[in-house]
Amino acid sequence: MSKVDRDLVDRDLAVRLVAAAARRVHDHQEMLSQLDAVAGDGDHGVNMSTALGEADRRSGKCDHVTAAEVFKAAGSAFHDTVGGAAGALFGAFFRAMGGGLGRSAEPGPADLVAGLEKGVARVTRVGRSEPGQKTMLDAMAPAVSAARTTREAGGTLASVLRSAAEAARDGAGATAAMRPSAGRARYASDRSLGTEDPGANTVALIFEAWADEISGGKHG
Ligand code: ADP
Ligand code: MG
Repeated sequence: MSKVDRDLVDRDLAVRLVAAAARRVHDHQEMLSQLDAVAGDGDHGVNMSTALGEADRRSGKCDHVTAAEVFKAAGSAFHDTVGGAAGALFGAFFRAMGGGLGRSAEPGPADLVAGLEKGVARVTRVGRSEPGQKTMLDAMAPAVSAARTTREAGGTLASVLRSAAEAARDGAGATAAMRPSAGRARYASDRSLGTEDPGANTVALIFEAWADEISGGKHG
């Protein structure tokens, strides 16, 4: 298989990425809920694990022929299975990402970056939020911008996703020093200081799972 072929975001790769994200978040759901319990209501890990589990089940359906359809189906699974802010926002992210990817018949790394940018723009709009408010956007926005930089330097799918994962993890780490000004946690702003944002951690876990999946299936 040529290098170019391997760098296609086809249906099978999308199914693998959704499955990898579901496994990773499932394995970390208690940690995510504990983070959410500090200033929120403690349901984030369960919410995300439930939604991604359903996304995994739906995405493998044989009537999805493109990666775009797989990501859209994953987004709908979030909307249909969980309430809460993050359910709606991740649902919007995955659906927009599918929409962005869908513009190309044979999507590659640049299309993936375009899809990710659609996703982050939609979350910003739906959440009426911006980076710096201690939310998922503090991992998502730097991840997507790192993905673009790596792609513009000629990076492969694997390097694009690895740089996104590293930026997402750094972004999630940086939320510990922030005070929340969006979402439920803003009502317990002082308590949240020193603790990372749960949604930002979910973003980091998802990008790390994607980077590991594409670079040969290391699972951490
Ligand atoms: P809920 O807060 O409704 O219980 P979750 O616990 O599942 O929902 O998700 C909480 C996460 O959602 C937060 O950690 C934060 O990252 C994210 N979040 C909440 N509101 C917003 C918003 N307006 N914009 C972006 N992200 C948000
Ligand atoms: Mg919650």
